[in-house]
Amino acid sequence: MKRCFLFFIYAICCLSIVPTTLAHSGFTGAETTRNVTTTPDTSIDIPGVKKIRVLLEEHPDNKETKFLIKSNNGFVLTSPIDSENSAFCHEGELRLLCKKQRLYMCCADGRYHRIKYQSIEIGDPDNKLTFNGHTYQGSIIIRFDETKQTTLVINKLPLEDYVYGVVHWESIPSWPQGMQKVQAIISRTYAVFLMQQARLRNPRFKYFDIKNTNLHQVYNGWHNYKSLRRAIDETSNLILTYKGNIALTMFDICCGGSIPGKMRNRDVSKPYLCRDQRCTYCKNAPSYQWKEDLHVTNFIKGLKKAPQLKNRFKKMGAGLASIKITDTDHSGIVQWIRLVDSNKRTFKLSGVELRSTFITRVKSLSFSVKLIRDRIVISGHGHGHQQGMCQWGAKELIDRGWSVKSILSFYYPGTRLSRLL
Ligand SMILES: [Zn+2]
Repeated sequence: MKRCFLFFIYAICCLSIVPTTLAHSGFTGAETTRNVTTTPDTSIDIPGVKKIRVLLEEHPDNKETKFLIKSNNGFVLTSPIDSENSAFCHEGELRLLCKKQRLYMCCADGRYHRIKYQSIEIGDPDNKLTFNGHTYQGSIIIRFDETKQTTLVINKLPLEDYVYGVVHWESIPSWPQGMQKVQAIISRTYAVFLMQQARLRNPRFKYFDIKNTNLHQVYNGWHNYKSLRRAIDETSNLILTYKGNIALTMFDICCGGSIPGKMRNRDVSKPYLCRDQRCTYCKNAPSYQWKEDLHVTNFIKGLKKAPQLKNRFKKMGAGLASIKITDTDHSGIVQWIRLVDSNKRTFKLSGVELRSTFITRVKSLSFSVKLIRDRIVISGHGHGHQQGMCQWGAKELIDRGWSVKSILSFYYPGTRLSRLL
């Protein structure tokens, strides 16, 4: 075993190294279409999107960071710069250390030795690696981002395996199979949209396509829900397009009845995100209606601590005389709030700023606010950005017998179901 490991070190050091043409206007979706298959309307060829690069972690490079990767079958190590050159390591654990754009590997003597590359791709013959308690298919890449001076940990894997992972975290595994298929199609589409952005336009995504958090889509690797794998296989390569382009299939937990087409800040270049029919199907969602209250002291403390607000609110007094929403758009999204402190100073706060400061309490931007003695009571509808698909609404529509295609067409009007070639 030791000999093999030493050989590996030697080798690595030697490497030079969603119509459905259901018209959006007038379509009610009321017909029962439970058994309709998800046959695509068209196909689309986008080279290079069958494998995705997912950012798992990002660390400042001025600090020492250690990584532990486990495998039951040893490791295949490759330089991403030269994929022809690879080495095999029989060990079950691989320990790496990164600091100041240098990579070190823990060798048989228990010490870290520098390897000559600034990036390394680690694979497993059985296609399953364990990193930070999660199992990942594909490979793990550790590399430096010279622009941001950070060390990146990236999981590179087939797009379909990625979608299989995402559906587990972005849906509820016990929901009906039809809902899993809907989620698979929109999660796949969302990923391909970002892959295109990453590869064509946005230098910020030079080394990866998508993040593994709810900034993009939550992804924590492989799992073993076989029914979800079936949903992925039955929708394999299906995505939504709009006029021949990949659609940005935003989705959230519960729309709370908001109509995206009436939002002031809607993106008119993406009319499929500007649905003008109300989703009334998510009323059973836990977050369809919500109520939170915050003590005034904690509210003011929160504003003064928020990096983007602290300068504006540093002179705010310790008490609040009034709080009032002064501007709401036609969909009910709060735009602006006026605050008057105990010293009669007036402050302006946007709805987005309020929500981002108290994100775990303020679930959406559709809310009303009241000052009751020393408490601020916020009552709202929905959970999320309230654009695109409403997951609780879509699940209800599956229960009512709507087809996958009808649901996609309702939430993303004007899009077509396409197959990636
Ligand atoms: Zn809804």
